[in-house]
Amino acid sequence: MNILIMGPAGAGKGTMSELILKEYDIPHISTGDMLRENVRNNTELGKLAKSYMEAGKLVPDDVINAMVEDRLQQPDCQKGYLLDGFPRTLVQAEAFSEIADKIGKPVECVIALEVDFEILKDRITGRRICSKCGAIYHIKGHPSKVEGVCDECGGALIQRKDDTVEQLKVRMDEYEKSTKPVIDFYEARGVVKHVNAAQAKEDVFAVIQEALEHLS
Ligand code: AMP
Repeated sequence: MNILIMGPAGAGKGTMSELILKEYDIPHISTGDMLRENVRNNTELGKLAKSYMEAGKLVPDDVINAMVEDRLQQPDCQKGYLLDGFPRTLVQAEAFSEIADKIGKPVECVIALEVDFEILKDRITGRRICSKCGAIYHIKGHPSKVEGVCDECGGALIQRKDDTVEQLKVRMDEYEKSTKPVIDFYEARGVVKHVNAAQAKEDVFAVIQEALEHLS
């Protein structure tokens, strides 16, 4: 099962990906998470990506394409993939078409999560992430039992540096400019499922499940 999940920051890509993983045996590959791990480990890639990420800007296409191609060669991708946050530009989508054909895993479904800016603003500024296991919380919608501490692993909850209203505006502009054309690219191939992601998460997931059932 070869799936892409797309949507602006705060649309619920991470949350929906967690739910999809519980149902289907494919790895969740988030380019944002991979880059953040590189930044944490201070790798060459991390050093290069850091300034772009902190400014809410996109990391150069060739860097990202190589990182994804390498990741998809790993044995856990044999049954497919759930790619989150990639491709984000038309150049990435075109390059990925070639990569996906080469490894025999063309995209079968693009889940496009759609939400208004005002809702995203609330979600983004209240979002907290476990610094240890990556679990996602929200100070109002889904608070941890003990403030600042992860329910799952006891790790410290942090706010991402780019989870501010200012950065959200930059990321939304980037999304409109660079990522909407990617959705059009897949629309032309008839594989896009538009999903209203302003609903309760169970309802959003039910729509996604229905779309994925047609694939398996
Ligand atoms: P995310 O966690 O998906 O919101 O990604 C966080 C940041 O990582 C983005 O604002 C970009 O700076 C960078 N990033 C993640 N995925 C990509 C991508 N496919 N292309 C370029 N930059 C990316």
